[in-house]
Amino acid sequence: MRKQVLSILLTAVMLLTMLTGCTDDASPSSQPASSASSEASSSSSPSSLVLPQISASPQIIGEDDGVRIIRLREESDQYYINVLYGALKVPELDAMIKDEVYRRVDRFEQHLASALSETSRNDTYLTIDYEQVRYNADIVTLVFESREKRLGQFIHDSFTLCMNTSTAQRMYLKDFVEFDEAKDYLIEQSAKAVKKRYPELDEGMVRDKIRSNLKDDSDFFVDETTLTLLFDVDLFGLSKYGDTVQVPIPRADIDAYLKEKREAVQSQESQPPQEPPTASSAAPTTPTPPAQTAKVVCLTFDDGPHPTNTPALLNLLEQYGAKATFFVVGSRVEQYGEIVGRAASQGHAVGNHTYSHQNLTKLSQEDKTAQVDRCARAIENACGIQPRLIRPPYGARLPGETSINGEEVTLWDIDPQDWKYRDAQQVAEHVLSRVQDGSIVLLHDLYATSVEAAGIILQELSAQGYRFITVEELRGI
Ligand code: ZN
Repeated sequence: MRKQVLSILLTAVMLLTMLTGCTDDASPSSQPASSASSEASSSSSPSSLVLPQISASPQIIGEDDGVRIIRLREESDQYYINVLYGALKVPELDAMIKDEVYRRVDRFEQHLASALSETSRNDTYLTIDYEQVRYNADIVTLVFESREKRLGQFIHDSFTLCMNTSTAQRMYLKDFVEFDEAKDYLIEQSAKAVKKRYPELDEGMVRDKIRSNLKDDSDFFVDETTLTLLFDVDLFGLSKYGDTVQVPIPRADIDAYLKEKREAVQSQESQPPQEPPTASSAAPTTPTPPAQTAKVVCLTFDDGPHPTNTPALLNLLEQYGAKATFFVVGSRVEQYGEIVGRAASQGHAVGNHTYSHQNLTKLSQEDKTAQVDRCARAIENACGIQPRLIRPPYGARLPGETSINGEEVTLWDIDPQDWKYRDAQQVAEHVLSRVQDGSIVLLHDLYATSVEAAGIILQELSAQGYRFITVEELRGI
């Protein structure tokens, strides 16, 4: 894109120097811009050339769902400009929106003098259009498409502005998702979508381009159910198409990464489960140990698998001869099946954590069954075993519910809130100060800090004579 602009600039300079003596038969117009240009072209000296200016001012032409529709429109025989944008009636945000739009208007205007040597208005235009996408009463994204043509060059770009009208702040991708954790998944989904639209592209190249361009402030929009990423196909060397590929990602599929979800459940997850898990309900002072007399502990890891942190954790567990229990998310199992296969083959237990990390108490019976079944199927496909344990996301279950679809509900009794603190030392200390024979510890293998915490816990508890067993072993199932 930058290269294109540069070449246009060079062409513009060359054309300006050639403008002397050029005859322009443009009919006089009431617009100062046009009269200036005909004056310039009839002159014999380039120094008297007056740069044309866009003289129209933006007009409010309507309102749609709280967003004022503004239009800037001007046309002559030689060019036209038709720009639409939205105003949210929040001064800071409206200034930001106008800035983004006018950056393109100003750029077009700067090139107008040279572009006017073109004879047809069909060759010189700027159109900007937008759509608004609402997430809730406060948050709305304006999704822009800008198309510009001058001197035979076509420039297309799309851009988005997500705005929170109640805080008067722009919002970025990183405000909706835990970007670093979600990134691999977003890249994978995006590469698939681009490849589907343009099968001729090399998949590796597409993935590399997306990987190096997807940033925590990349273009996106979000509505009630879906987060959508946008990729201008220029990125893949397809500038002539003037196309933008949209990658819709259902919010349910990235539930584990959504910030809003985490904040909403924070209070819920920071409370101990409403009913203590079976392991500790058998009177903490006289826990039921398995056959051996050594102390045992169950490390459990939720929300994975993760492409790098889970393999690192598996190495660590192997090093200590430790067994753990993984409560995996079905959509991630479909993506990283081989990691689940490895966990199972190392003797770890794999349990159900629903297909897309849903709060099961808020679903219909049908949806609940689908969430559990689909995850179970993904696990079976990945490692050939049927899960016998289920940990409902957020520990949310119906009162007294001890099994779901025949899988035994497993909660926890030590929750260091590793997802919140992201501090290996703090997480490890929380666990080490509370652990007792038969404890079930809740951790998340999505985070490098949690894997690091597991390393500290494994080292310390091994030294204290603990054995690390699966929840299935603890329960004797
Ligand atoms: Zn979870």
